[in-house]
Amino acid sequence: MAETVEAPAVTRISHWIGGRRVEGASGRTGPVFNPATGRQTGAVDFASAEEVDAAVQAAKEAFPAWRATSLARRAELFFRIRELLHERRDALAEILVREHGKVFSDALGEVTRGLEVVEFCCGLPSLLKSEYSEQASTGIDVYSIRQPLGVVAGITPFNFPVMVPMWMWAPALACGNTFVLKPSEKDPTASLWTAELLQEAGVPDGVFNVVMGDKVAVDAVLEHPEIAAVSFVGSTPIARYVYETATARGKRCQALGGAKNHMIVLPDADIDMAADAAVSAAYGSAGERCMAVSMLVAVGDVAEPLLAAIRERIPKVKVGDGMDPSSEMGPLVTAEHRDKVASYLDEGDVLVDGREGAPDEGFFLLPSLIDNVKPGMRAYDDEIFGPVLGITRVATYEEAVRLVNESPYGNGTAIFTRDGGVARQFQFDVTAGMVGINVPIPVPVAYYSFGGWKASLFGDRHIYGPEGIDFYTRGKVVTSRWPDPATSRVDLGFPQTR
Ligand code: NAD
Repeated sequence: MAETVEAPAVTRISHWIGGRRVEGASGRTGPVFNPATGRQTGAVDFASAEEVDAAVQAAKEAFPAWRATSLARRAELFFRIRELLHERRDALAEILVREHGKVFSDALGEVTRGLEVVEFCCGLPSLLKSEYSEQASTGIDVYSIRQPLGVVAGITPFNFPVMVPMWMWAPALACGNTFVLKPSEKDPTASLWTAELLQEAGVPDGVFNVVMGDKVAVDAVLEHPEIAAVSFVGSTPIARYVYETATARGKRCQALGGAKNHMIVLPDADIDMAADAAVSAAYGSAGERCMAVSMLVAVGDVAEPLLAAIRERIPKVKVGDGMDPSSEMGPLVTAEHRDKVASYLDEGDVLVDGREGAPDEGFFLLPSLIDNVKPGMRAYDDEIFGPVLGITRVATYEEAVRLVNESPYGNGTAIFTRDGGVARQFQFDVTAGMVGINVPIPVPVAYYSFGGWKASLFGDRHIYGPEGIDFYTRGKVVTSRWPDPATSRVDLGFPQTR
């Protein structure tokens, strides 16, 4: 008798508009894979401009009531969202593992760091407090207020499918805006899951919408006249395009781009600590982090012992399916991306080639190491975004800082040293937005803001934290007088304060 082989289930992943799932009508979809097996698990709808417009209209309709919702009620909803997310964080982390590929503990870390932004937003009544000057002029008081922008949009990358959307929707909603999210088409399910959770928490329909898709959906967002602001996180060429297109259409925009993060190790550093940090920051999440360390800059005679310590650690990194609790590093997001990352191992002094011994099934590449990587080489100039660590050797601290400062990117950087004076000088000298001192991945806590310099951020406001609140609100200044009608007179002069 012939054996029946069941076709693997492929789930349809649709939009979320006006408080319900809406199946796409454009006829275009994209595949979603489980990177650990290489099998397709989902088909995500790609929105047309009309579908993006439907989401914007839902957000526009919801805006007046959401904006008028008291701060106390909004804060209460945020506490509820926080509780539900906290209770269900394991389920959410599992979705990340199955579509992104990162290991479960790392996925839980992502959810937790995102949750910190939601927790920050629970304090929204304090965050939205403004200033008041009594008696600015005789009988005149002046005060400022911060008001929401209206409908705002977020466009997010594949590598943090929960945390990066939270950087956007949490402060946007806290400030009284309504939101349209266009998540990465590679791992979109978490956004739909979030939409359902927000609804369950009591967020009114239309306040949070999700449109799935590709460039067509992004362009429809950028062109839409009813969208007041766009937050983007992704690669530098698309960040630049989004920033230029959105601002040319009068929108406020913050567009965070790619990175090439250097970690400098000085001769006085603790070698074991620096090696642990380099291996963790280069290979965690298979190097698919915008704050991953991808270039190690060894100063003076630290290079050989540091390299030896790293080479000793690499074979011990356990690579496998992210749901296996013993796995420390998972696969890359797609076969195409894995192959692109692997192509960097075709040249240079490759000390460890992660193609050797990688599992056949799934999109795996093992931790890889290239020595003597220098500006002008592809492995130095490009953001590889995979488990490939490059090492360069320089003679002095000054040379090391010059390398970092001459990089077109300026996201994160780190220095490992025991010398407080040099560390302090480094924080003064370096042209990057986030600096770690003996900390390899210096992602700011939720009450500071996240953002790079140079080609790592287009726009003038960093994301989440105080700058996030600033981004999602606009100021108004009121000059007020409650005069005695008996003192009223015509005066054509410019208002004076004295
Ligand atoms: P990506 O730029 O390919 O995609 C980001 C978003 O843009 C996605 O929603 C995608 O659908 C959309 N997009 C892709 N191509 C487009 C096009 N031609 N026109 C319009 N929209 C388009 O980035 P990715 O591969 O999903 O994510 C990885 C990148 O994101 C890396 O460069 C990484 O450094 C960067 N990143 C930066 C930060 C940061 O905070 N600076 C954080 C996370 C990721």
